Amino acid sequence: MEIDPTSRNSPEVSPIHPQGSPPFIWYNGSQVDWCDARVHVNAVGHASVSSVFEGIRAYQDDNGQLQIFRLADHLKRLFDSARISRLAIAYDVQEITDAVCSLVSRNEFSGEVYIRPWLFPSGIIREQIAKAWLPTDFVIDSWEVNSNLRNLVGCKTCVSSWIRNGSNASPPMIKAFSNYHNSRFAALEAWGRGYDWPIFLNQQNQVSEGPGACIALIRDGRLVTPDLASGILESITRDTILLAAQEKLDLKVVERPIERTELYLADEVFFMGTGWEVLPILSIDDLQVGDGTVGPLTSSLASYYDNIVRGRTRHSSSWCTLVTSSQNDITSKGKE
Ligand code: PMP
Repeated sequence: MEIDPTSRNSPEVSPIHPQGSPPFIWYNGSQVDWCDARVHVNAVGHASVSSVFEGIRAYQDDNGQLQIFRLADHLKRLFDSARISRLAIAYDVQEITDAVCSLVSRNEFSGEVYIRPWLFPSGIIREQIAKAWLPTDFVIDSWEVNSNLRNLVGCKTCVSSWIRNGSNASPPMIKAFSNYHNSRFAALEAWGRGYDWPIFLNQQNQVSEGPGACIALIRDGRLVTPDLASGILESITRDTILLAAQEKLDLKVVERPIERTELYLADEVFFMGTGWEVLPILSIDDLQVGDGTVGPLTSSLASYYDNIVRGRTRHSSSWCTLVTSSQNDITSKGKE
């Protein structure tokens, strides 16, 4: 798309209701109409610099009901990210759990759903550095998004010239919007060079992750993935896939630093994350991975992951949270 760099936005902005946005968003304790959840323009900078968030998916089970995948683990990570970033949360985990379920139910999605809870320091902050433990605004957004697990399409990647944020600079372990500044630089470079996605190396020149997902390779019957000290997000999908690889495919799983050259020798390589699910990598720096098509083990892992997230395995009771239509009563009653 050609963009006119001289175009200017009018200050009379029309209500933001992009196609596909749901009727309700959760904002500071209640479900409000999408268009009524506003902050002042001066708050936007800090809302993006100082905020932490989560990305969660809800999948349809065999009865057509939505099951939120590993909600408790995502919320734990959100609270951990907030703690490390010294952001105060005015709600407890149970309140946010109820709020997520109730919102998803009330929005009456017809397909599958992506859920993004996030928080940022409240009000207008003029200092460049927001103080610790300021009160925060808490938002839960949700929108329809479909799964690619049953229709795997691979991607072309390159190793980025941008290095992953250092753990002692802007820790990748925290799910903070500001970390995606680093991701964006790498993605822009990859797109500019004709690739779909970049792969980051870390400050030790070893493989870390993608801009929005972790990475794993399969070589000689082993699944190898960068360890937590490689500068990665402690990914919930990664945790699930490692378990699936051992449980379903009987693969030996190794978490350790990975050299760039090992990527070129792998039989299969894939990204894994909530949003990207299992995304096969077909080439790296113009070298084909395997025969350049989606590998058989990646494909089996994706299909087992699909069973897990849809509540068809023994993990369902602990990992899948059913969204029922009665859940939206909680907040509707609260609002009356
Ligand atoms: N790394 C980055 C940078 C990410 O944005 C994501 C997606 N949240 C992941 C890894 C994967 O994490 P998860 O599996 O918990 O979604």
